[in-house]
Amino acid sequence: MKYSPVQNYINGQFVDASSARTLDVISPLDGNLLSKVPMSTAKDLDNAVKAAKAAFPNWSHMPIKERVQVFYKYKYLLEKNLQELAALVSEENGKTIGEATAEIEKCIELTEFACSLPQLVTGEVLEVSKGVECRTEHVPLGVVASIVPFNFPSMVPNWTIPNAIGLGNCMVIKPSEKVPLSVGRLAQLLKEAGLPDGVFNVVHGDSEIVEAICDHPGIEAVSFVGSTKVAKIVYQRATQKFKRALALGGAKNHLMVLPDAKADMTAQNVAASMSGCAGQRCMAASAMVGVGNVDHIIEKICDEARKIVPGKNLGAVISKESKERIERYISDAEKDGAKILVDGRGAKVEGKENGTYVGPTVIDFVKPEMSVAKEEIFGPVISIMRTNTVDEALAIENANPYGNAASVFTQNGGLARYIIDHASAGMIGVNVGVPVPREPFSFGGWNESKFGVGDITGKSSIEFWTKLKKSTVKWNPEAGVNWMS
Ligand code: NAD
Repeated sequence: MKYSPVQNYINGQFVDASSARTLDVISPLDGNLLSKVPMSTAKDLDNAVKAAKAAFPNWSHMPIKERVQVFYKYKYLLEKNLQELAALVSEENGKTIGEATAEIEKCIELTEFACSLPQLVTGEVLEVSKGVECRTEHVPLGVVASIVPFNFPSMVPNWTIPNAIGLGNCMVIKPSEKVPLSVGRLAQLLKEAGLPDGVFNVVHGDSEIVEAICDHPGIEAVSFVGSTKVAKIVYQRATQKFKRALALGGAKNHLMVLPDAKADMTAQNVAASMSGCAGQRCMAASAMVGVGNVDHIIEKICDEARKIVPGKNLGAVISKESKERIERYISDAEKDGAKILVDGRGAKVEGKENGTYVGPTVIDFVKPEMSVAKEEIFGPVISIMRTNTVDEALAIENANPYGNAASVFTQNGGLARYIIDHASAGMIGVNVGVPVPREPFSFGGWNESKFGVGDITGKSSIEFWTKLKKSTVKWNPEAGVNWMS
């Protein structure tokens, strides 16, 4: 085992969980055992909430300009330790070093945004009648929880950590049991950056901890990122306990490719979008709809896909079960009459025979009713459907229950605008394969890709992590009294 067993992080200390139950942490790159992660109990969560609650009065009363000083230092530490952090992400998640480096760079951008929070939460003030002022302030909620998935061990935690904490909350985070190592390292960096003990706490575990978070009376708000199945469970359970909740779910993102699209650029974008992070991104292109004759572009997509080689410029998928599931989707599509143009099944990497790799896969002549067209595959696979018109393509996109992202590839501005208007997704790209809005714009999908109001990052997250206090103030009696004052 490469690393010592994972511990919880409570009140500034790494501590053992109260249960002896553990799960193995396996590197998808080569199948080696990295560590063991504890399956904590509700008692461990309660200890973390108590520590966060105790830290809240001092932290929340500190002026925001002082609070964000911690995040200036944290940003510096992310930069200083970038290579080491990226190596850890790659090791526990299976993505390439290049992708893991980009993930840490995104953490830096997220932290930069948090450093700008004082400029964004100034509140408003207006003299609403003679001598009477109304004023708004963003007030932190208290103890908040963040539940995160496996596919971005560092970035998704950093969607929530700098903003929620910078705005004055104290946090308990539950990392994915598949990738628990990176968050422990982030805890060390936050402490080194000067974050007071108890403001940030980590409790490892599985569904038992997630349920305990939803039920805990000391937790005010729950953010969740993961599959739609679990997003629904968390959203329902947390709101039933009258907590504020925001739950981001899975995705099935459609790319609409028109015959006038720039062929080389489109092919490069489609191939990169479907295969980046081995297709394990909620923003990955998973379905493509070719409108009219786009054979020349599909040919180029296949050429690009063949340049993507497992173990070189393509990472591993998270587990053996995942690899089997993805390969089953491809085989089912084949049985149902689709044509496999590039086949990633049975991929092996020399010297890493226990790694869990799937090669890039391009499936053509997919019908909208096939499972590869409808369901989230979460692997480096693109399912291509064909239509004659943009409206038929939009009908396919609209019928999908998810709504994270959609993109169009065309040189026709009018048609691109029409697709922006009619696609049923929260994030739209034009000639962009992965339309992630960068800070200060916010990240969040629609439909079954997100439950709750607002987005998880950017300016929109300020509303989620704070409540508004409205004060109406009059000091000078000569202002008089009327019905408005
Ligand atoms: P997951 O839903 O299996 O797990 C997410 C978290 O929920 C983990 O911490 C896990 O321990 C916990 N969990 C799992 N099963 C649970 C249950 N039955 N009850 C309570 N908690 C449970 O997701 P994952 O496999 O870790 O991540 C992949 C999924 O996340 C994909 O569907 C992907 O699209 C989605 N995702 C979405 C976004 C987004 O922004 N919409 C971003 C990243 C990932």
